[in-house]
Amino acid sequence: MKLYEFQGKEIFKKYNIPVQSGCLICKNDLTKNLVPPLVLKAQVQAGGRGKAGGIKLWDGNKDISQIADELFSLKIKGERVKALLALEQVDILREIYISMTFNRGKSTPVIIVGTSGGMDIEKSAQSDKENIHFIEFDPFIGILDYQIRWIAKKLQIKDVAEFRKIIKAMYQIFRDYDASLIEINPLAVTPHGLMAIDSKIDLDDQASFRHHALFQKLEEEKKSLKDKENSINLESTDDTITFVPLSGDIGVISDGAGTGLLTLDLISDFGGKVASFCELGGITNSEIMLKALRLVKNQSSLKSILVVLIGGFNRMDDMAEGIIQFKKELKDNVPIFIRMCGTKEEIGKQLMKDENIPVYNSLIDAAEAAVEEARGN
Ligand code: GDP
Ligand code: MN
Repeated sequence: MKLYEFQGKEIFKKYNIPVQSGCLICKNDLTKNLVPPLVLKAQVQAGGRGKAGGIKLWDGNKDISQIADELFSLKIKGERVKALLALEQVDILREIYISMTFNRGKSTPVIIVGTSGGMDIEKSAQSDKENIHFIEFDPFIGILDYQIRWIAKKLQIKDVAEFRKIIKAMYQIFRDYDASLIEINPLAVTPHGLMAIDSKIDLDDQASFRHHALFQKLEEEKKSLKDKENSINLESTDDTITFVPLSGDIGVISDGAGTGLLTLDLISDFGGKVASFCELGGITNSEIMLKALRLVKNQSSLKSILVVLIGGFNRMDDMAEGIIQFKKELKDNVPIFIRMCGTKEEIGKQLMKDENIPVYNSLIDAAEAAVEEARGN
């Protein structure tokens, strides 16, 4: 599994490899509490970010949200940017390349170093072969001190003790995490010592059974970035609703992606056009239902709203409560059509009937009614 830079740097930090302090910014996060000078870095797993425009320095002259927007609009080697890492800017005197991986031919771990790291490492590895060094070592013995001193000399690193700590920490991570690659490019020489400016870590998937919790955490982080890419953070709460604005006149809300997509197809079959699609996601409550309805209501072209609910964990009486609350707020009556089934559906349906909100057993009937309403029939 490939780690994002921010995930790799968290591990570096744990092992005392110096990294810049900073924070992760997702698409809809506010960026106004940040103080320049910073470097903003697109979090993607593809290499060559800098060359693709994915690294931007912010000195405070330009509006940071404009830079963030530019970065979020990038696609780097086909990969969308889901988050940015904002880091304190560092003065770089020199850039070094260092990585640890396996020489599979020789069945040994190997350290690869280059005297001029940075964005052109691939080119200089071709043209400048004498500046790239491969140092194999015995995994049972570890990296010997003379090897560390030899590498430090080749890299013209003066503070060997500082470098020793970094290289030993890299090997510790390599072993502890069953990594197949740890790359620091560049390892920067700064006025205050060495610092890992970038991080690339690949974990061996074959060893995931030994790191169950870690793999789960990394997967969850990846998933949460994906979710955030398509969602709008509502007010100040933590809940997220997936909201996709479209160009038609029927607002659709569902409590599951599958039902939602089926509903979109049905609306299209009946000749209707969807104004927006809103998915409540997972276990939900009356408050989230109310927020979703408010969000859908914002679309100006709206002629009807269709809410489709299949309650497993979700309680239909809760959902009904959110809908009734919304109905109370609604001044210009946009008709709402409900398809409701599942946990506590009898109570939910009764509540809907008491409020004169049409409620259906059949998804097809509800979709047809919403389309007919939008059509003006
Ligand atoms: P990559 O293009 O994906 O490898 O992204 P990196 O994180 O390695 O950054 C690319 C380049 O941006 C580095 O080689 C540096 O030259 C430059 N860079 C990144 N962070 C900083 C910083 O804090 N200060 C300075 N001066 N340059 C930086
Ligand atoms: Mn890099």
